Amino acid sequence: MTTSIKPPDWAFEFHGHRCPFMPLGYRMGLLAMLRLGVEREQDHGFFVFPEIGEGHPQTCMADGLQAATGATYGKTVMKKTYYGKLAAVFYHPAKGAVRYALKPSFLDGFGAFEFFAYRRRGVEPSEIPADVTDEVIAWTYEQSDDDMFIVQDLPDFTYTPVKGSFNKTLCSSCGEYVFDRYVRMKDGAPVCIPCSGYEPAPLRK
Ligand SMILES: [Zn+2]
Ligand SMILES: [Zn+2]
Repeated sequence: MTTSIKPPDWAFEFHGHRCPFMPLGYRMGLLAMLRLGVEREQDHGFFVFPEIGEGHPQTCMADGLQAATGATYGKTVMKKTYYGKLAAVFYHPAKGAVRYALKPSFLDGFGAFEFFAYRRRGVEPSEIPADVTDEVIAWTYEQSDDDMFIVQDLPDFTYTPVKGSFNKTLCSSCGEYVFDRYVRMKDGAPVCIPCSGYEPAPLRK
């Protein structure tokens, strides 16, 4: 069998290099959309929660998930859970939720390809010979969905996004605008987070 779900060229361009992980995310995203019966998201109504973290391989799948689903970081409808797992939850308030995870048996076969020997030596995907990359991508296309994915419907899953607001305030220290949910008070005056001296969690080491 060969899957019909392959990323379009623009998705590889967006991603920046050819690798097997972006296509895996693309396929996972499209399968989840088909299972839930949702179209590619134009706005802010479909949520994807990749369970990946950072500092481990295969995080490129997030770009495939975004390309397939239209649920992008920029629209704040994609959020990583930082579980360090190759899985994602897909949620549409009107259609429900489903979780897709890559099977360990698939990952064991996948990891045996030469592509990973290059990666373990620190070679970046754009520097890996094209035939080595294409070999492992082609192999993934030949695996069946059942061979690759654990699928779980999540009937009780819910998520409430932050309520949007257009309100913004000038920081009394740097003079730049800051949206109101991020305004802090310092000596009785509104300031932005950098001017408050407080370092937000994502930038902490
Ligand atoms: Zn990649
Ligand atoms: Zn400021």
